[in-house]
Amino acid sequence: MEDRRESKKKYYQDNKEKIIKNRRKYRQDNREAIREKSQKYYQDNKEKIGKYYQANKEKISEVGRKYRQENREKIKEVKIKHYQANKEKISEVGRKYRQENREIIKGKNKRYYQENKEKFKKYRQDNKEKIREVERKYRQENKEKIKKYRQDNKDKIREESKRYYQNNKEKISECGRRYDQAHPEHIKRKNHLRRTRKQDNGGTYTIKEIQKLRDQAWGICLGWKKKPHWVGDGKLTIDHIIPISKGGRNDIQNIQLLCGRCNSSKGNKIYSK
Ligand SMILES: [Zn+2]
Repeated sequence: MEDRRESKKKYYQDNKEKIIKNRRKYRQDNREAIREKSQKYYQDNKEKIGKYYQANKEKISEVGRKYRQENREKIKEVKIKHYQANKEKISEVGRKYRQENREIIKGKNKRYYQENKEKFKKYRQDNKEKIREVERKYRQENKEKIKKYRQDNKDKIREESKRYYQNNKEKISECGRRYDQAHPEHIKRKNHLRRTRKQDNGGTYTIKEIQKLRDQAWGICLGWKKKPHWVGDGKLTIDHIIPISKGGRNDIQNIQLLCGRCNSSKGNKIYSK
């Protein structure tokens, strides 16, 4: 028994590189099958796995912490390399993250703004002309970018303007009346906007529905081009299975929970085998 173990160990030591290479190749050649299998395993044992990770959270994060401490330089190097190779994708991911987590980000910004309100207000007042000039210049220089942003964020913009409208109804309608009187051609544009709005994908979901999805996930990310993995409930973000930009509805049926990392690498791709 001992002998066999020893010789096995020796064999591994002597052929380490070959073995690792073979394993990697196997994983690469059978990626889909492996993913499917582990996805099924995670699906069938979600509760067990979630509970295990929950119970061993401390231990697991301790292992990670230790590894990061001991390999700081290596990690830094890998990170820089990865960033250089994936610049485009990363900025795309950031964009998507901001889109999907706008509530969280907004909350943070709002808090910051509230805490520094007076300062902001004073700055704007003191620099009114300057700000207006900078904004005008920016719009002129980034016409295409702005157009694209509007197209990509149709839903977001619509949501925001809806909310703004609800909060400022009186002011807006008074403004609009005055504007319509001065610009009769504006009515044409209004009708056009109404028509295009109809073509939007639509759909809504409730906080309750998301909570239910979370409860069922047990802190496990389904993974994008990799195995499902436990990240903990707090790290799960909302992903549209069919992206809004590709016509997906903003419905609970079109929503899954992925960790930030998987969500980002999915980008605006549609799940496909
Ligand atoms: Zn993930």
